[in-house]
Amino acid sequence: MAKALLLLELECPHCKRVLTKGEKVPLDAFLRDTHQDGQVSLSALFGDYTIETDLKIREGTIVEFRCPECEASLLLSLPCRMCGAPMASLNLTSGGYLEFCSRRGCKGHALGGVGDIDQMINLMNRMFETPYD
Ligand SMILES: [Zn+2]
Ligand SMILES: [Zn+2]
Repeated sequence: MAKALLLLELECPHCKRVLTKGEKVPLDAFLRDTHQDGQVSLSALFGDYTIETDLKIREGTIVEFRCPECEASLLLSLPCRMCGAPMASLNLTSGGYLEFCSRRGCKGHALGGVGDIDQMINLMNRMFETPYD
């Protein structure tokens, strides 16, 4: 894999609509600290931690992610193993799911797992061992 650009096709776990647009995953966002509404685009590239947003998100702020199609919250009651903030979850269209931390600045934030090599390998296995029909 010389130049591995793995594009994640993500869908809403509630309405099942595909949320990946090109190389971005635009989501509705609500900042708990400042009560601001806006949009945050995650990168759909596996292992790419960049986000784009029109909001001013300070490090450590918890962002409530919502599906831009059905408005359902993407947050789970599961806490991040690294910082304790709620995890957010999206489904992979190829099967399986992806969880990421809702706290800005936490390494668990980005798509592609929590920087834990076992989790990365699990994700890769989930993606590549899922048969297409
Ligand atoms: Zn939805
Ligand atoms: Zn976290």
